[in-house]
Formats: sequence, structure tokens, C-alpha cells
Amino acid sequence: MELVPRITANLATVNARIAAAAAAAGRVTTDVRLVAVSKKFGPAHIEAAVAAGLQDLGENRVQEALLKQAATSAPRVHWHLIGHLQSNKTRKAAEAFDWIHSVDSVDLLRRLDRAAADCGRSPKLLIQVDLAGEATKHGAPEAEVQRILDAATTCRSVEVRGLMVLPPWSQNPEAARPYFRRLRQLRDDLRASGPDRSRLDQLSMGMSHDLEVAVEEGATMVRVGTALFGPRPPASPTLE
Ligand SMILES: *Cc1c(COP(=O)(O)O)cnc(C)c1O
Repeated sequence: MELVPRITANLATVNARIAAAAAAAGRVTTDVRLVAVSKKFGPAHIEAAVAAGLQDLGENRVQEALLKQAATSAPRVHWHLIGHLQSNKTRKAAEAFDWIHSVDSVDLLRRLDRAAADCGRSPKLLIQVDLAGEATKHGAPEAEVQRILDAATTCRSVEVRGLMVLPPWSQNPEAARPYFRRLRQLRDDLRASGPDRSRLDQLSMGMSHDLEVAVEEGATMVRVGTALFGPRPPASPTLE
């Protein structure tokens, strides 16, 4: 099948899954933003995704996203950085992304704020939380989240809008539920514990195989790749 009809059909399926999960949880579908994870796919997939009606695109590498942005003329797309951000790439990230889901230290937050001020941008940020205590994974330990939020009160150009989690991989979607539930609890506690935290309204959680569980637990953004685009190619075409 052609790219646009295929992505359009996949999008209908994903939207139906989100709608069913939202209805089951007594939530409104429009409160869940679908971030289409286009990593490893080339510009043709980006254009097709936009033609199919997707407006939020997620990439996990800064350089890869820049190459694709240069190669497409997709208008009115919101770009999301969902992968780890190295401190030497903060300037490019601040320029290229509207949302950055992977802030995990006070240092990275401050660098992003300076970079954003320099280039006249105001990206919105999420704190990635390492709820599993996995040393190999990125993300701030729970105890660090409060410190990042405190530091954010003095930021001028960036705004922390919520939390993100990437639970340990499991085929069973139910295995992710405790992590999603904990992230929401943490967000609710943080919101209640500080003044002016009402804008801490975003929860980025859930992927292709467990998005229903995430929506049931309160996700406001789901990051979906495979269910929209199919299996990813082994390498990024734009980087070869
Ligand atoms: C790749 C990726 C996704 C999407 O995964 P799928 O299983 O293809 O939906 C979501 N979040 C992050 C952080 C990713 O790196």
C-alpha cells in the first residue's frame, strides 16, 4: 500500500485505541496528544505522516531530526525530542524542538534555558524520571525531580510542563502499569507541594504496545512509532 493510505489506516486504528481507553477511564480523547515517533524513518515518512493528519513528531536524536527537518517542508508540525540529550547539543535542541521530554538534571535544564534565550526560543520541557532505578537508563532519580523543578523557577526561556517515563521493556503491557501510576502520583504530589505548579499538566507515557494502559493511568502524551509506521528500518537512512 502507498505510504499515505497505510499511515492513515494505522492512524485510525491508533486513534480508536486511544478513544476506547479514554472512554473506559472517563477521560476526554482530546486530552491525549499523539506523538508520532518517526525515528529511523526518512523524510518521505514525515511528509506522509503530516499528509495523514499527524501534527506532532517525535525523534530520539538531535542530528537525525535536523537532517529531516531540512529535507521536509512540513508546515505547522510540533517536534518532540524523546531521546537522551547530550549537554553539547542543547543549543541545537533548543532551536529544533518545541517539546523536550528528556530533561534529567539541573545542569541540562540550565544549559537549555541559556541556549533557548540565546536563540529566542521557548521550548517546553518534561522531566524524564527513572522510576525503575536502572543505572543503564537515562532519567532523573525521583529525588532529583524536586531539585530540577526548584531550579526551573529561575528559568526565563524554558518551562517545565510535566514528567516522562520509559519503563523497562516488557511484552506485557500490564507490566508498565505500576510505572505509569507512580509517575502520575509523583506529578500530583509535586503539583500539590509547590506554589504555581498548575502548569505541570503533562504526562508523557505509553508506546505502541501499552498505550491503553498509559491512557487509563492519565497519559496526556503517548509516543507511538511502530503502530503508525510499521517496523523500523535497522539504520537511519538520512545518516548513512
Ligand atoms: C522509539 C520510542 C518510542 C516508540 O516506540 P514504539 O514501540 O515503536 O511505539 C516511544 N518512546 C521512546 C522514548 C522511544 O525511544
